[in-house]
Amino acid sequence: MSTLEIKDLHVSIETEQGVKAILKGVSLTINTGETHAIMGPNGSGKSTLAATIAGHPRYTVDSGSITLDGEDVLQMSVDQRARAGLFLAMQYPVEIPGVTMTNFLRTAKTAIDGEAPKLRTWTKDVKAAMAKLRIEPEFAERNVNEGFSGGEKKRHEILQLELLHPKFAILDETDSGLDVDALKIVSEGVNRSIETGGLGTVLITHYTRILRYIKPDFVHVFVDGAIAEQGGPELADRLEEEGYDRYQVAETASA
Ligand code: ADP
Ligand code: MG
Ligand code: MG
Repeated sequence: MSTLEIKDLHVSIETEQGVKAILKGVSLTINTGETHAIMGPNGSGKSTLAATIAGHPRYTVDSGSITLDGEDVLQMSVDQRARAGLFLAMQYPVEIPGVTMTNFLRTAKTAIDGEAPKLRTWTKDVKAAMAKLRIEPEFAERNVNEGFSGGEKKRHEILQLELLHPKFAILDETDSGLDVDALKIVSEGVNRSIETGGLGTVLITHYTRILRYIKPDFVHVFVDGAIAEQGGPELADRLEEEGYDRYQVAETASA
């Protein structure tokens, strides 16, 4: 078992108006095999948490720690984080002009494993994974994310997830912009990684919809850069009915 541990994390960013505190003491422990949903209103800091785990240079960690099996993630480069077993699917995937999906996947696999995958099995694995995610074979020769629809980008992310076998995946609004069919395909891919790979999953989402397909073990509600409430899957059901209003009311009242 591996453990990703976030302890009392405080993160800020530099804006034109000065330094702005975004995460205000987030603590979270994720073991492999567990699925954690992070829910919360827009602007509560969910993507900031994902970007900080990913090592985005824009975000400054003022205090607190992130460790993977005791190793200091914050001291690792972005590449080292990937090699350590962290997989980050961002809310806004970037296009990579001039790099085909095939080359990108193989380069990523080689970087993470420290050696190139054997061509025959690799080609077979990629084809099989693409078929399961209903990605047309010709996508293999297209440039990464270039001209991809929202749903195609998300499926491509899950393709990476299934081929790279990380220990932990942070999926930031993987459900956004997906129709029901695409949502099912993407969710099945994540579930395969959980079931066969023992993936530890952090599922960041504003809506409860994806949680019908990927069952969380734990639900954490983010409000104003901190965890306002935690619970099991029943908390997601409650949010589905009640929304986030009661947290925001409490916030205003205490302000
Ligand atoms: P969420 O993902 O929950 O919607 P974010 O982490 O994207 O929340 O944003 C949290 C807060 O930090 C928001 O108030 C947002 O405006 C601010 N923020 C995040 N990134 C930046 C940035 N690069 N520049 C300015 N403000 C930012
Ligand atoms: Mg947002
Ligand atoms: Mg976000």
